[in-house]
Amino acid sequence: MFLRDNGALEAIGKCPVCKKSIRETEKAFWCSNYREGCKFAIWKESSLKFFSVFGVEANDVFLREIVKGLLAREDVVLSLVSPKTGKQFEAKISIRKNDRGYWEIALPPQKSQGGHKSKK
Ligand SMILES: [Zn+2]
Repeated sequence: MFLRDNGALEAIGKCPVCKKSIRETEKAFWCSNYREGCKFAIWKESSLKFFSVFGVEANDVFLREIVKGLLAREDVVLSLVSPKTGKQFEAKISIRKNDRGYWEIALPPQKSQGGHKSKK
């Protein structure tokens, strides 16, 4: 579909690990440097799942815009619906490496509630 000559795809951003270009395929956003061992990839299926948990109907176009923004280190703030409370909230999403070594779209780490810790 989006394939150009010999399967080359348009770069959508720079790899946060090795700075090579990130390319989009049907299933994922990959680092073009994977042959050299860079493991950076964001799978579309798990990203779509992430968004559906938070009440967002995502599609490829939506994901591409999100991933582009994240790779460009822009603030990507979305209004999501909490699966626990059903309440809407604003979240700045990010890319992080999970326990299994895969990269994924995620919420920022939860800040513990209960006041500010000021070091003065
Ligand atoms: Zn890379």
